[in-house]
Amino acid sequence: MTRIPLMAGNWKMNKTAAEGAAMVKDLWGRIQSLSGVEAAVCPPMTALHAVAQALQGSKIALGAQDIFWKEKGAYTGLISPLMLKDIGCKYVIVGHSERRGRFGTADASMTPELMTVFGDNDTTVNRKAQAALEHGLRPIICVGETLEERQAGNTDKVISDQLQKALQGLAADGDELVIAYEPVWAIGTGQVCDPTEADRVIAMMREVVKGCLGKETAEKMRLLYGGSVTPENAPAIMEQNAIDGVLVGGASLDAEKFASIVSAANA
Ligand code: PEP
Repeated sequence: MTRIPLMAGNWKMNKTAAEGAAMVKDLWGRIQSLSGVEAAVCPPMTALHAVAQALQGSKIALGAQDIFWKEKGAYTGLISPLMLKDIGCKYVIVGHSERRGRFGTADASMTPELMTVFGDNDTTVNRKAQAALEHGLRPIICVGETLEERQAGNTDKVISDQLQKALQGLAADGDELVIAYEPVWAIGTGQVCDPTEADRVIAMMREVVKGCLGKETAEKMRLLYGGSVTPENAPAIMEQNAIDGVLVGGASLDAEKFASIVSAANA
């Protein structure tokens, strides 16, 4: 089964609309000759429209960083699946550790008291993924263990638990759903997970997906690695058997760096 690698950039709370539009034009110029790889960018909500316009005529896909599960109503500050579809999104990140309130050591200012501010948990992640699928958006569901959970030897249990809860009741074809393994301790820290260990965890995740959604779906589904991916470490990550792409934060903000990461899938 050949799965087309997905190289996705999560810009988080970075870039104005004009900066985002300029960046994707630059990026497309650098990667347009590549084939056999899909690139996607996930700008902040305020830049989605401008970036969608700038992406016209390119093959770079657009994604959002979060979604609410209701179509419309009295939900101040939230964005619905209909709105994301309307603006041209193909993907939406669901359950990023920062939205689950699981910050690593990279941001010491996020005290335990403030950590719950975004409020995602296994139940909301499942609802968001469900709503995205129902509206023809492809969720990129993130799972990952904290440093404490890894040190306690609980990585596989934490990951399979998050995954089973996120996938509960979902009906999706394998190419409609993406899952990213993002160890919390590797996000924004410069401490990349050893590629062979990421490969081991991701292979284990595919077994969990098989149990939840069946063999055919699991074999079609792309499973990504995320956490301090750079142009330097991307080739070793993309060499692994089980890894079908990357979700990139910091290094996706720069067109040259992100283009180099995208080419690692093509190499
Ligand atoms: C992320 O936020 O999904 C991420 C992986 O960030 P970074 O690449 O900066 O570690």
